[in-house]
Amino acid sequence: MALPGPEWRGLLARRWAELDPPLRERLAAASLHDAVRLGCDLLRTEEEEVALVRLCQRVRTGKEPEAASFYREQGNREFGHRRYQMALRLYSKAASHELPSSPEVSVCFANRSAALFHLEHFEVCLEDIARAESHGYPDRLLPKVLLRKAECLLCLGRLQDAADALSVVESKIHMDGLMTSPTHQTLLKKLSQLKVKLHEKERCPEPAQEARGDMQGKSEIWEENDGISGASSSLSLNFDTERGRHLVASQDIMPGQSLLKEEAFVSVLCPGESLPLQDSETAWDTRVTNADLYCHRCLRQLLASVPCRGCSYAKYCSQDCADMAWEQYHRTECSLGALLLTLGVFCHVALRTVLLAGFAEVNRLVEWSHSGDKDPHNSKAGCKCLSETPEPGAGTRGIPGCDDSGQYHSSYQAVFHLLPHTEQHSPEHKFLCMLSVVAICKQLQEAGLHAAVLNQESSEQWPKTKTSEQTSDELSPELKTVAEAMLRHMLQLQCNAQAITVMQELGPGDGAVVNKKPVRLATAFFPVLSLLNHSCCPNTSVSFSGTAATVRASQPIPRGQEIFHCYGPHQCRMGAAERQQLLRQYFFECHCRACLDELESDVKSVVSMRNSFCCPSCQAPMQGEEDLLCCSNEACATSVSRENLSRRLQDLQQQIKKALDLLRDRKADQAIKMLLKCQMDAGNFLSPEHLLMGEMEDHLAQVYATLGKWQEAARHLKKSIGIVEMHHGPSSVETGHELFKLAQILFNGFAVSEALSTIQRAEEILSVHCGPQSAQIQELQEMKTCLSELPRSILQRT
Ligand SMILES: [Zn+2]
Ligand SMILES: [Zn+2]
Ligand SMILES: [Zn+2]
Ligand SMILES: [Zn+2]
Repeated sequence: MALPGPEWRGLLARRWAELDPPLRERLAAASLHDAVRLGCDLLRTEEEEVALVRLCQRVRTGKEPEAASFYREQGNREFGHRRYQMALRLYSKAASHELPSSPEVSVCFANRSAALFHLEHFEVCLEDIARAESHGYPDRLLPKVLLRKAECLLCLGRLQDAADALSVVESKIHMDGLMTSPTHQTLLKKLSQLKVKLHEKERCPEPAQEARGDMQGKSEIWEENDGISGASSSLSLNFDTERGRHLVASQDIMPGQSLLKEEAFVSVLCPGESLPLQDSETAWDTRVTNADLYCHRCLRQLLASVPCRGCSYAKYCSQDCADMAWEQYHRTECSLGALLLTLGVFCHVALRTVLLAGFAEVNRLVEWSHSGDKDPHNSKAGCKCLSETPEPGAGTRGIPGCDDSGQYHSSYQAVFHLLPHTEQHSPEHKFLCMLSVVAICKQLQEAGLHAAVLNQESSEQWPKTKTSEQTSDELSPELKTVAEAMLRHMLQLQCNAQAITVMQELGPGDGAVVNKKPVRLATAFFPVLSLLNHSCCPNTSVSFSGTAATVRASQPIPRGQEIFHCYGPHQCRMGAAERQQLLRQYFFECHCRACLDELESDVKSVVSMRNSFCCPSCQAPMQGEEDLLCCSNEACATSVSRENLSRRLQDLQQQIKKALDLLRDRKADQAIKMLLKCQMDAGNFLSPEHLLMGEMEDHLAQVYATLGKWQEAARHLKKSIGIVEMHHGPSSVETGHELFKLAQILFNGFAVSEALSTIQRAEEILSVHCGPQSAQIQELQEMKTCLSELPRSILQRT
């Protein structure tokens, strides 16, 4: 959820409606500077603060020992059932609720190391064992863990280390004495087994693992622009009043060529859909959220997470990431977790942006924004830079956001210059943003974090102790400056927030064919990427790796053409009217080629034609814009209400969902039956090109793949690919992902020549969109290598 939750929004909407009309007018016309001052007085009323406290209590971000023991028990149960992946995640949840350096947290790490061992993540297993030891793992339990360590080292082929570990554990076991206890006997047995294994390995060492030399892929041609950090030298930054700042090809560009490579200035992990909002006391959520799956700082996928020492919601890929996050922003954010989750990701991004920038820089730019302000009460102040067209011939100097030498960097200055559109937001929206920002700053002050925000080192240590030298309710002048900058960022985010998306695996992930869908992982500011204007038929494609974005040309771009990026409404996904509606949040009317074609020529959008209903009696397309749809076949004369057909569509979607639940419960046969029935139903009222028809084929392919019926799976997937191609185009990234799946299926079914040609096609498409280094391309290449070695191994066998 980008904006604050519905309760807080509702409360502030009521409050807004109750304000005196003159005050409302003042607020509507206020500059950011004045808005913050007004907001400080308005939030003083008890009602909002109490309500906010109540809302925050429902979000649990603190460490709760009860939760820890609950998750640990659940983890043990899953472990007992050999569901190690789930056990691993539950032990991580447990660890995040334990206090640092407690014996309890060390037990979590030790348990988790066992799950990691079974999942054959030996290196990470060793890390967790070391973690358990450093957090004070109980001495009497140590031998078992040390034996696991030795076994890990053996599996990794580190024989000398394994021998050392074994001798340590041997002397430990003998020192502990009392040979009679049963656990002791088990330990001794395990010890002797491992010693035997060690001797065997020492006698015939395994050949050293081949270095994966040729997996590097082709290196990309990349020459960085002199004037714009992270941009290719084949682009130039232009400015005019109509298009604002924009990037143009300064030479002919090939498809797949990298145009921008930018690290996010700031990014905040989205909590994901199953945010644990509970009113009950003991119902702990065992579902996994983004916070369990990705590093809070660098967005890398988590295996064995390192919990924050202060809260239960921030989890990191490594101690280094945890330390860096703490230094840069988390020491301020840590105790504010519940408030930040309640107020939404935009508020969180706004706060983290000012923390990363540092108070000095925030203060400098806020002051600067006032100084250029001819009329301090003029709300256009934030946008004044746009009206000042740079002098002709001045190059990039004078283009907003550029420094004195005309360079555009991914810096706070560039972020600060993104358009806030202050005067175009509804006054009510500004009111919501303003009071939310003020609420955060007030809590910062109350929690004694004032010094931390100003980058003063006095609160370096644990910040929870209140050093409330500030006893009054009034925000300090510095925090008012911070609030003003945050309000600006909140307003900028509406147009400039960039979603970081990844292809996330669906289901248990133990099948031979991976089913993935794109999910929103984080919200970020990319000041260089923000230079690109929108088009519903863009000439680029964006992919993410961690917090870095790469933009590539998705088609040939001739010199002089503008570089476009799609903000979301793509011509393949919706009609022009719907796109324009969505784009209104960015305060512009789209005049891209697709929109002009569709709106001016009055042709029906391809999307609505393909995703249309057909006649239940004769299957001809249904026509009509109104509530009653008529069959296009004149001889038929059937008419049905749109509502009726929409309801059937909804029912169908429900049934498909049920079929997928069956698949998840490993009832593949029933899932197939249900999907086939859905297909029959759908054929009676959906056009054969409807996207849902394709989705059903895709699901059928998935089920057959879990059964190992590769030919059937391939047959269905090919139908799905046909429909995806029709909607998104044969060289779209969507088609690429489908071809990737088909390649996996053909590979598993030993359909060698067809697999090779499918790999080839998938590789061509995906390398344009995701680059030659992407995980999917690497996987395709591994499949190819494997297939090319296949005939030899088959020959050897026969
Ligand atoms: Zn990390
Ligand atoms: Zn924390
Ligand atoms: Zn458009
Ligand atoms: Zn008909």
